[in-house]
Amino acid sequence: MRVDLHIHSTYSDGICTPKEIVEIALRRDLAAISVTDHDCVDATEKAQAASGDSLEIVSGVELSSEFHGEDLHIIGYGVDPKDPDLREMLRLFRDTRLNRGLKIVENLRKVGISLDPDVILAKSSDGSLGRPHIAEALVENGYVKNFSEAFERYLGEHCSTYVKKYKLNPAEAIEYIRASGGLAFVAHPGIYLRDPDGLKELIALGFDGLEVYHPNHSESQSRQLKALAQEHDMLISGGSDYHGFAGKDVPIGEPEVPYEVWANIKRKLNEMRG
Ligand code: AMP
Ligand code: FE
Ligand code: FE
Ligand code: ZN
Repeated sequence: MRVDLHIHSTYSDGICTPKEIVEIALRRDLAAISVTDHDCVDATEKAQAASGDSLEIVSGVELSSEFHGEDLHIIGYGVDPKDPDLREMLRLFRDTRLNRGLKIVENLRKVGISLDPDVILAKSSDGSLGRPHIAEALVENGYVKNFSEAFERYLGEHCSTYVKKYKLNPAEAIEYIRASGGLAFVAHPGIYLRDPDGLKELIALGFDGLEVYHPNHSESQSRQLKALAQEHDMLISGGSDYHGFAGKDVPIGEPEVPYEVWANIKRKLNEMRG
């Protein structure tokens, strides 16, 4: 039995609705999935409604924080999608994402690129507006050939048209996740392996787990991260980080994540809930 605990839906920058994700997961014989949208928990309930008894849906969310000036994504599993404080924080995040998206569109206009803001807003109408929605508009209007070129020329952090988005600090993100009943995981920490001190510092912030299986991790990175998690008595997680981006993404269900990974997370959640 396998699981996929990192998937994006139309509630952030993924192309599939929660229902479509459930259908794909069932076709691939997965036993549990988590839809971990950026700054939005609304997909969880939609997926639960679509799944029936055939598939376990783990509530999930991916928060953006900043650590030593770099983007640090933090995943919460088992959060209560109805928690008022969590929802309020996420709503604020989505509002700031809207303004930031419009600023990027404005910056693009100044360099001669004209995109219809309403079309971009419509692309993210279910939830969080992200740079991928703008990338899609750039492709559709023929300004770039693909997503890579869109990020390379206009949307990446090194571009003059880039606008930062509001981020929590990692401790705040962990606190929101815990306070709403969840466990906090470092998403795709592979990049931190080149900075062992940074990784140790990260772990010391009190995360419950590390994402070990991820398409950006080599086998050797996954092994190192798994050993590190064991050493620090942390849980592990993993998934495809599927968005449905053409030419870039691996499918839902890859890399393989054994059911045991979710069973261990579930055990810890049940212990916490007493
Ligand atoms: P945002 O949260 O709006 O800053 O957008 C970040 C999202 O853009 C990430 O979660 C990825 O889904 C996507 N992304 C970032 N860099 C790239 C890239 N070089 N090519 C394609 N997608 C990217
Ligand atoms: Fe994304
Ligand atoms: Fe991420
Ligand atoms: Zn993700």
